[in-house]
Amino acid sequence: MSERDEILSKALQLVIRYLEENSAPDTLVVNYQNPEFLKAKLDLSIPETGVSVDKFLALLETYLSYSVRTGHKQFFNQLFSGFSLPGFLGEIFTSLTNTSMATYELAPLATLMEQELVQKLNSLVGFNQGEGIFVTGGSNANLNAMLCARNRTLPEAKKQGIQSSHLALFVSDQAHYSFLKAANLLGIGVDSAIKVKSDQYGRMIPQQLETAIQESLAWGKKPFFVGATAGTTVLGAFDPLVEISEIAEKYDLWFHVDGAWGGAVLLSQKYQHLLAGSERADSFAWDSHKLMGLPLTCSAFLVKRKGTLYHACSCGDTNYLFHDCEDSAYDLGLMSLQCGRKVDSLKLWLSWQYYGQRGYEEKINWLFEIANYTTQKVKHCPELELMAPTQFLNICFRYVPHDQFDINRFNLELRERLVKSGKSLVNYSTLNGQAIVRLVVANPEINQADIDQFFENFLELGRELLSQ
Ligand SMILES: *Cc1c(COP(=O)(O)O)cnc(C)c1O
Repeated sequence: MSERDEILSKALQLVIRYLEENSAPDTLVVNYQNPEFLKAKLDLSIPETGVSVDKFLALLETYLSYSVRTGHKQFFNQLFSGFSLPGFLGEIFTSLTNTSMATYELAPLATLMEQELVQKLNSLVGFNQGEGIFVTGGSNANLNAMLCARNRTLPEAKKQGIQSSHLALFVSDQAHYSFLKAANLLGIGVDSAIKVKSDQYGRMIPQQLETAIQESLAWGKKPFFVGATAGTTVLGAFDPLVEISEIAEKYDLWFHVDGAWGGAVLLSQKYQHLLAGSERADSFAWDSHKLMGLPLTCSAFLVKRKGTLYHACSCGDTNYLFHDCEDSAYDLGLMSLQCGRKVDSLKLWLSWQYYGQRGYEEKINWLFEIANYTTQKVKHCPELELMAPTQFLNICFRYVPHDQFDINRFNLELRERLVKSGKSLVNYSTLNGQAIVRLVVANPEINQADIDQFFENFLELGRELLSQ
């Protein structure tokens, strides 16, 4: 056997063993160690000469043993989790055939797959004549949206910069921080982002949006963009898209929907009403590496009107890459901010083939059921308090200790102990100055018993902390 084949077949055995361990009862989500320990454990320095085959395989094993098992059923920390078999294979075949999405010539089938997927996603959103491009994440999709909006309001800015145009943009106070990054990057300025107040569910209040727009006009600003969120990062709130679209229209703003977390709810007939009005948007961010379970990253930026992306993204000087030839209409690179761009379409296309539309719908409906089960569990446990009504797959709660404890410090300490125990992983945030534990159900393989197990781990540590 050649060295290559030996390494490949042994690495595949490691993969299979790792996946078996993920579901074994005594496997921890993470073997948490501090940086000093890990640096002592693994010599990270770059060697003068290459290592032996055995050493190389041992390195792979070490990597697996100290990585967070996001496919473990006690991983509730992020908006992504689980293991996707078609997604994993898509990723391997993408690397195997390593290419760039710049031109049809370089990536013929992947280009057609990406176009098919963009069309499919657009039809779910309600963009009948739309276009789109795969991007490096939801943050990048939001950046593209703001760029398209800037290009619409200030067409001269592409060449001349924005000078002092006093643009103003609007998102809710629960929106993702990527909007601020985009405002920074596009020269619009972080202070030009106005955070509109949300209600107790975390949904943007349309009346507050209109007030904020009028105020900024009175200040001599130029409102140009409103970003609504479908599924906020902390509370899982869905902004009222129809009402926001009416205000956007009235004031001639670009209307973007950040569906990075909740966009895929459109796959469920039962719950797609949460995104009612998505077809009124000008653009939409969709992360398939969250609710659709694909390996990171797999995101699309969708736009209602054809030609928008080329207009916003192309800046000339590309003769060495893009040639006028028979199939150049298929060169997606002309619509992208990237030059070299990874093939992210294959894994999503394969995954949709594998599960079908129906399979995805069932997964999403199941996750809503599990979220409801988790919410009931919190409500019925006297030691816990639900911190916001559950609207989606984010369940926000906290442990309520006796009065002599500082409740915020107690919850942060409890969560940290849970992470270090490696038994369950969950994240936290703050809401109106209160620390909240945010449990996210994004892995459709989990069931009620996994949720029971989580609370067993959480409550046990809580009681332990109480008695100290
Ligand atoms: C995760 C998330 C983003 C950022 O997406 P990335 O793919 O992580 O860049 C943006 N908006 C919302 C609402 C999100 O939940």
